[in-house]
Amino acid sequence: MSGTILITGSNRGIGFEICTQFASDGWKVLACCRDLDKAVELKDLGKQYSEVHPIQLDVTDYSQMISVAKAIQGEPIDILFNNAGYYGPKRVSFGGVDRTEWRRVLESNTIAPYMMAETFCDNVAASSHKLIAMMSSKVGSIADNRSGGGYIYRTSKTALNQIVKSLAIDLKDRGITVLALHPGWVKTAMGGPEALISAEVSVRGLKKILLQAEPSNSGHFYNYDGSEIPW
Ligand code: NDP
Repeated sequence: MSGTILITGSNRGIGFEICTQFASDGWKVLACCRDLDKAVELKDLGKQYSEVHPIQLDVTDYSQMISVAKAIQGEPIDILFNNAGYYGPKRVSFGGVDRTEWRRVLESNTIAPYMMAETFCDNVAASSHKLIAMMSSKVGSIADNRSGGGYIYRTSKTALNQIVKSLAIDLKDRGITVLALHPGWVKTAMGGPEALISAEVSVRGLKKILLQAEPSNSGHFYNYDGSEIPW
């Protein structure tokens, strides 16, 4: 299978690996990133694969989002992958919460992915695969929370999971499948050097889930190895 994938946060980490693997499989990649001028590796990938198109998009800049949507109006998007994310301050425990940072994390990880879904759902509905994927995290699972803390990042992903569930219901009639995904603990700037798996291994697993997704999977939360994660 091949088609068109639009991905956010594509200049580094897991997003860049998604671009690389889909491009090498012959997909058209609409590779959105916050600062195109600095996205050297992504632009190099665009030189290697003519179907990789780097696009300027800060996901929290909604006028920029609308400009991108206008530029690709009517173009089918088989997979809309909301990958961009921001961790915010590390080790946020009870009594140590920075409200300004909390709002910033919620804007990036929760509100922006919802706005992406709203803005590009016509493109997704016009495609054959009709998939919206949200990059969540296992730490957003309430059932999995045994260690407490992490108020800022955890809540941003828990709220994103709720968005996935509502979108799955609201977009069902348009044939759109919506998934929440956990990439594993991945060696990136966010995951750190102690993480358990490479971006390459994570994306190989995620890709399988993306390509095999069907309406019965909509509104569910999957680990990169295909197992389901409780909400
Ligand atoms: P990185 O920190 O390596 O990369 C984050 C990416 O998101 C960068 O491309 C960054 O762009 C982009 N980004 C952040 N804010 C914005 C914004 N406002 N607009 C556009 N792009 C933005 O993280 P990972 O690759 O590790 O993470 C990717 C996703 O996976 C995130 O959603 C994260 O929460 C999730 N995740 C990661 C895990 C891990 O172990 N690594 C575990 C669980 C979930 P820029 O270069 O401009 O900053």
